[in-house]
Amino acid sequence: MEDEVKDFLYKIVGEDGMEVISTLNERSASDLEIAEKTGLKVKIVRKVLYILYDHHFASYVRTRDKDTGWYTYTWTLNLDRSMEIIERKKKEAIKRLEERIKFYEDNPTYECKRGCYEFTFEGASETKFKCICEEPLNYSDPSEKLEDLNLLLQKIKSPGVKNEDHIRNQQ
Ligand SMILES: [Zn+2]
Repeated sequence: MEDEVKDFLYKIVGEDGMEVISTLNERSASDLEIAEKTGLKVKIVRKVLYILYDHHFASYVRTRDKDTGWYTYTWTLNLDRSMEIIERKKKEAIKRLEERIKFYEDNPTYECKRGCYEFTFEGASETKFKCICEEPLNYSDPSEKLEDLNLLLQKIKSPGVKNEDHIRNQQ
């Protein structure tokens, strides 16, 4: 499994989820079989499976036991298109971030000292520069927000940076 795929999967399913994935990576299995093998609760296994399914990383086949009449769901991991899906999600995230950066670059925003809500100039004018909590609205310097957003953008664009951070933190 590629590092980028692993990182992404970890982000969406967490540590327990990674156990589900490694079990499924060996062979297809039902939720009960996975729970037994990993020692995780069936509820947690199912939650992970649905997340994987939502991302098109897993699929299932439903079969009915003729004797009991119960249905069994046999799950199969499908990571063939994972890089493609991750790249697409990455592009979407980059686009959203770039839009937010452009918004803060183009629009002054106003906030009260509690920071309950962010107003554009038009919004702040409408409420006569008063927040919903009655506190006055002040111009909010976007430089810190922009710095955070740009940092996030860099991290998404070049995931390698994250590993360097990791090494730096350990030293
Ligand atoms: Zn407020």
